Amino acid sequence: MAEKILEIRNLTAGFLSDKGLAKATDRVHLELEKGKTLCVVGESGSGKSVTALSIMRLLDYAGGVIADGEVLFNGQNLVSKQQKEMLKIRGNQITMIFQDPMSALNPVFTVGEQIAETLRIHKNLPEKEAWRQSVDMLRKVKIPDPEIRAKQYPYEMSGGMCQRVVIAMALACNPELLIADEPTTALDVTVQAQILELLLQLKREFRMSMLLITHDMGVAAEVADRIAVMYAGAVVEEGTVAEIFERPRHPYTIGLLQSIPGLEGDRGGELYTIKGTIPKIDQIPTGCRFHPRCPYAMDICRQNEPPLRESNTGHKAACWLDDTGEDDPRPGKPNTRETKVTIMSRPEVAQS
Ligand code: SF4
Repeated sequence: MAEKILEIRNLTAGFLSDKGLAKATDRVHLELEKGKTLCVVGESGSGKSVTALSIMRLLDYAGGVIADGEVLFNGQNLVSKQQKEMLKIRGNQITMIFQDPMSALNPVFTVGEQIAETLRIHKNLPEKEAWRQSVDMLRKVKIPDPEIRAKQYPYEMSGGMCQRVVIAMALACNPELLIADEPTTALDVTVQAQILELLLQLKREFRMSMLLITHDMGVAAEVADRIAVMYAGAVVEEGTVAEIFERPRHPYTIGLLQSIPGLEGDRGGELYTIKGTIPKIDQIPTGCRFHPRCPYAMDICRQNEPPLRESNTGHKAACWLDDTGEDDPRPGKPNTRETKVTIMSRPEVAQS
């Protein structure tokens, strides 16, 4: 069995209010094998970022709490660690990049100084060596003329270039796990593909594992080994890219796939949208949390929460329609064939 670098078990985290704990994640279970990429997808408010902040133990700084569960990184439970111990893990073994590169960079220091500072703090390098390695990192993230660029300030660079600097900073200490929270969302469409390609290439070069958070199924199709779909704080489906794109089992996943604009077909037609909005974390409905928006909702869905059931291939889904736990569409099930998406640039996926 492949070695797991990260195992999140029953993670319940959220924000305390007068009414108690508003759960942003509710018994979330995720696993990531060494060297692989797990994409967590879902709309805003699905609990993706709270999951990432919980892994980093940064949720406390965002005003939240981890109420229950474990985050095992190489077998050590990060939830029980003191923040002092986490300082050694964050930036060294686990690093994170965020959506907006400009807010991750300090405007009053050159980009070279910022990468060098990371190296000085975490690797205890002398100044000259830290600077040399920081220029080298800029070269690795394909910034042209790295010696000159290292002496520039963030405002002198484009958004795409700044995200490359943030990636250089995150990878400078050769982490084992990179968490990327919507790393391309704030960038121009033309730059997004370059940054994703760069992340994949560096992941191979640095032999890292990656947890990528995105609302974009197209991004997940490009980079993931496995995809976990989150809705209103819970994982509702999880499987390989082929399973999620070719044989989705949860109506929410099917809705997300149907919402992807296609290059073919009726260009003037209306785009599919999932009706309604995701509930606030203090207003999660009883039963299946997706039932108010689900076109297939039945009585049982309004009363009882469906368990996350696993098929014999490891494909998991939480839906009362999916009572066999197998990938065999039956009468009454959503028509998964309508959702089939061809992933042109992933031949290994199309063949699987
Ligand atoms: Fe829809 Fe019911 Fe399945 Fe929930 S359990 S996704 S409401 S069919």
